[in-house]
Amino acid sequence: GRFSVIHMEELLERLLEECRSYTRLGKLADYIPELSKADINDFGVYLVNSDGKEFYAGDFDKKFTIQSIIKPLLLLMALMDNTTEYVRQYIGVEATGKPFNAIDYSEQLILKEHINPMVNIGAIEMCSMIHGETYEERFDRLLAFTRKLAGNPEIDVDEAVYLSEKRTGNKNRALAYLLKSSGIIDDDVEEILDIYFRACSIRVTCKDLANIGFVLANHGRGKKTGEVLFSGRHARFVNAILTTCGMYDGSGDFAIKVGLPAKSGVGGGIMAVSPTRMGIGIYSPGLDKKGNSLAGIQMLEQLSETLYLSMF
Ligand code: GLU
Repeated sequence: GRFSVIHMEELLERLLEECRSYTRLGKLADYIPELSKADINDFGVYLVNSDGKEFYAGDFDKKFTIQSIIKPLLLLMALMDNTTEYVRQYIGVEATGKPFNAIDYSEQLILKEHINPMVNIGAIEMCSMIHGETYEERFDRLLAFTRKLAGNPEIDVDEAVYLSEKRTGNKNRALAYLLKSSGIIDDDVEEILDIYFRACSIRVTCKDLANIGFVLANHGRGKKTGEVLFSGRHARFVNAILTTCGMYDGSGDFAIKVGLPAKSGVGGGIMAVSPTRMGIGIYSPGLDKKGNSLAGIQMLEQLSETLYLSMF
C-alpha cells in the first residue's frame, strides 16, 4: 500500500510527538478517585491492519478501564442473544444530543424509541438483554466475549474501579430505576447495575481495543482464524450507531474531523473502526469537556488525514 511498514511505525511515532502537547490540556476523570490516579502523560496507539500487520507506538500496553467502550459490546451481545428486531422494539438509534449520563427524561422521552444504547440508560438496558442462567453468568459471558474479540484471555476487571463505580453510581442507579418503573426492564435493578458497573471496569490496553475494532472493521470475523464472532449485519448496525453516537454529544464534530465509527470512554480510551481496513486503539486519559480523550481525538484526526481514513 501507500505506507510501507517502516513508514507506518515512523508515522505513529511522529504523530504521537506532534499530539503530545494536547495530553495535558485534558482533564482526568475525577468522579471516582481511582480514575484521577491515571498518569496524564500516558499516550499510546495501536493499529491492526486488514493485511494482518500490526503497528504501535507509545504506551500501547498500558492498562486502563474500558468504561463506555463496553457499550458497543453490550449492544452486540443483546443483538446476538435476541434478534435485531427484538432489540429494536426496546431501543432507538437516534442521537440524544445529551451527555452520556443525562437523566432529564421527561415522561415523553422515556419512550423506548428515545433510549440510545450508546448512553448510560440504554447500556443499562442492554445489560438486562444479555442471556444467562444467573446474573453472574451474564457478566461472565460478556467478559468471555470481550476476551474473544480482543484475542486476549487475560483481560480482567479492575476491582477498585468496580467497587467505587458501585459505591458512587447513584445517577446510574436512578436511570436503572427509571427503566424499571417504566416497565422497560423486568430484572432485579441492583443485579443489572452490578453487571453494568463490572462491565465499565473491564481492564484493556490500546492493543485490545485495536483488536476489537478490527473485528468490527472485518464484518464480525476474527483476525487470524476468520472465525465468525458476530454477523456482518450486526457489525453494520454497531458501526452505524458508533458513527452517529459513539463519541458522546461530540459525535457530529468527530464525524467531520475523523469520519470513522468510534467509541470513547472516560478512562481515556478510544476504539476506532476503519471498515474493511483497520482497527485502532488509542489511550490518553486527559479528557475534553464532553468526556472524550482530547489528545486521542487529535491523534485520530491526523491519522485519518494522513491515511485517508474518513468515510466521507
Ligand atoms: N462508569 C461510567 C458511568 O457509567 C462510564 C462512563 C463513560 O465512560 O462514559 O458513569
